[in-house]
Formats: sequence, C-alpha cells, structure tokens
Amino acid sequence: MPPIQLTTVPPHGAFSLAVHGGAGPLRDGPERAVAQAAGLRAALAAGDAVLAARGSALDAVCAAVAVLEDDEAFNAGRGAALTVDGTAELDACVCDGAAAQAGAVAASRFARHPVLAARAVMERTPHVLMAGPGPDWLDAVGLERVDPSWFVTPARLAALRAGTSDPTAPAVPAGLTEPRVGHGTVGAVARDAAGRLAAATSTGGVTGQWAGRIGDTPVVGAGTWADERVAVSGTGIGEYFLRAALAHDVAARVRWTGAGLADAVRDAIADDLVVPGGDGGVIAAAADGTLVLAHCSQAMLRGHLGPAGPVVVA
Ligand code: ASP
Repeated sequence: MPPIQLTTVPPHGAFSLAVHGGAGPLRDGPERAVAQAAGLRAALAAGDAVLAARGSALDAVCAAVAVLEDDEAFNAGRGAALTVDGTAELDACVCDGAAAQAGAVAASRFARHPVLAARAVMERTPHVLMAGPGPDWLDAVGLERVDPSWFVTPARLAALRAGTSDPTAPAVPAGLTEPRVGHGTVGAVARDAAGRLAAATSTGGVTGQWAGRIGDTPVVGAGTWADERVAVSGTGIGEYFLRAALAHDVAARVRWTGAGLADAVRDAIADDLVVPGGDGGVIAAAADGTLVLAHCSQAMLRGHLGPAGPVVVA
C-alpha cells in the first residue's frame, strides 16, 4: 500500500491559500520542474493579491487557477493533456462554500479559461454543469474564446504519441486502451479574511482518454467541493474520485464524524484511493484557515501561502 504523504499548515494570518499542479508519477525532468515551481508561485501570488485586498476566496481561487491554465507546464488550459483523438477537452469547476453554489464545464473546447466559464455557469445560469459551452455562449457571457487548436501543444502531442512504437503515427496511438496519468491538473482552495471558503479545479483530463470522457474535476463532490466547513480540490485518476465522491467524502467526514481536516483527508485518501488501487491527492482548507495537502501518488505538485509569503512545498 503506498504511503500517504500529508502536510498540515496551521492558520497563520487573516487568510489561507493552497494550490496544486497535479499528482502522479515522478517523471518530469528538472527543466519542467523548475517551470512548474515558478507557475505555482505565480498562481499563489495572484491569489495572494486578491486575498490581501480583502477579496473573496472565490475570486482568489479563480485568479490562481486562471494563471495555471495559461501556463503550458500544467495539464489545464493551454498545454492540457489530449484525448486519444488529439483534441483538448477541458473540465473545470468552482465551488463557493459560503454561498453553497457551484458551477462547472465539461469537455470545454473554446473557453480560454475553463475556470471562468465554470464560474459563469454558476453566476449567469440556473444550472450547475454544462457540457462544452460553445463560442456563442462564451460571447454572450463576455468570456474570451480561442480556437480549439490553441490548447494543443507539441509537447502534449508527443506525449500522446509516446504510446506507439511508430514515430510517424498519427495522434491516435493504435491500441491505446489505458489512459496515462501524470502531473498537471491544477486546483486551488482558499479561506478569505471574512471566513469564506472556495475551491476551483481545472484539467485536460488524462493523456489518451477517450474523446467524450469526463473526469472527476467538473463533478461537484468528486474532484471539487466547498461548503462552510471545508474546501477541497483533487487530482489523480478521476474514476476513483468519481466512484467515491472523494471531495465530498472529506467534507462528510468533517461534518458527520467531527474529524479534524487532516484526519478526514487521510482517511478519505486511504479508503477511496489507496484501498481500491487509485492514485492522486487533494488540497483542502478548513473554516479556521488550516490547510492540508496530501497525496498517495508518488508526487503531487503543491504550494501554499506561508507567513513569509508564497512557499512552494514540492
Ligand atoms: N483528475 C483528473 C481527471 O481524471 C486528472 C488529474 O488530476 O491528473 O480528469
């Protein structure tokens, strides 16, 4: 059974913020690791600026995730993992714990920032989850749209082709049946100075996933959750998060058993990921500002604000 690595960050100021850049095996080279660390710092700085100006936790997690969506070093927005057809189908979700509201998009292909499209679903429609909002809808809600090819990078095409022995093979690797999972999905959790909690997650899914596959990220309670007690953002093989409603499982343990956040996170990862053979991790925030960052995968890119400014943990 893989060990669970868990960090608890006690409350240390008026607000708290943690981000992740995906969980999976340790296989990225040093150059990419440097780029990813810089990306996490930039995301923390963006969220920090919002929270320091007494902005909302919701604004902070959206700002942090939007930065990571624009960063090719992560599997979200531009540079997202590609489907078996070589297309980018992006999932994102936001949860506003104080308002008990959520919004999400699945298989989004046109929104430059899927996290902002998810927020628009929450704030501008009577719905919670929309599949692939189109260009007209994005225009109507005033969000930036791009051609779907904008998300597809040479590095991600190479990663997709890596499953075949034929270097001239098209983007569809023959015989690929198992999606490959790696670092990249991004997420943020925050508690603001008014005590409100929020979570946001954004992803391209897993490399080589079937076109049309939707992971845990946009499913409220699976990959993303926030209420008045906890905010959770997950990363890993989404099917395990979906089967167990993992993010909500963390919240339910806090709510119904009175467990502290660290115990709730550890037990949820153990029961929902480790026992069934899954892989991944979560970042979580509690109402008192405590942050917990934990994973059972070999690694999880993650960072949090500390008393002396942004601290990228690993
Ligand atoms: N959870 C994401 C998904 O399954 C992938 C990841 O976090 O790496 O879509």
